[in-house]
Amino acid sequence: MGKVDDCLAWLLPRRCVLCLAPSGRHAVCAGCWPELPWLQPGCPGCGVPLSASTPPGSCIRCRRGRQAPLRIRAALAYTWPVDRLVTGAKFHRQLHYAQALGELLAAAVGSVTATDDHPDLLLPVPLHRSRLAERGYNQALEIATPLAAALGLPLAPELCRRVRHTPGQTGLSARARRRNLRGAFALCDTCAGMHIAIVDDVVTTGSTAMALARVLLAAGAARVDVWAAARTL
Ligand SMILES: [Zn+2]
Repeated sequence: MGKVDDCLAWLLPRRCVLCLAPSGRHAVCAGCWPELPWLQPGCPGCGVPLSASTPPGSCIRCRRGRQAPLRIRAALAYTWPVDRLVTGAKFHRQLHYAQALGELLAAAVGSVTATDDHPDLLLPVPLHRSRLAERGYNQALEIATPLAAALGLPLAPELCRRVRHTPGQTGLSARARRRNLRGAFALCDTCAGMHIAIVDDVVTTGSTAMALARVLLAAGAARVDVWAAARTL
């Protein structure tokens, strides 16, 4: 944040997206911030929190962990009040909620990721153009924009397109989700040798991120991480 931002924050303090108290330069006030359901970095395979007694590589959710093809980092548990922020951002045009989620994700990722471990670019999960036309915006891009700004990382929303309109994933089994997503994404540019972080609002089974990651890895990406504002537990 520069001096101009500091002055603006002093003149026009923001309001906490949760309780509407003045929150300075932040999306969430100092009172609400520690009350959020923050997730500690968990299993690198699926992001699920690991207890101290879980041996490495034996996560109960994904039974991998050690050599996972992609590493998922989710900032917050998808419980109250995060669910309200996510659904507001996704379905009710509450773009300041998406902005808040991006800032919260930046705080979570920035606190544990060394700068030299940062990805080369951020790729928000693309929406199919018909879904984009219907919604008017891509919530993953709205989350990734403040995240990229906070961490000083390039944003590459045009790297990949969603070429197949996939029906909603809710209620489908993991296997049905995978089938549903086959051929959903197409690469528009080269990504060989790059370290890419996919940005999404919520990770549930990870199947969407996995489908996108497969396309990137097949095109020679060196490493793919998934950074999600929230994950279901
Ligand atoms: Zn608050």
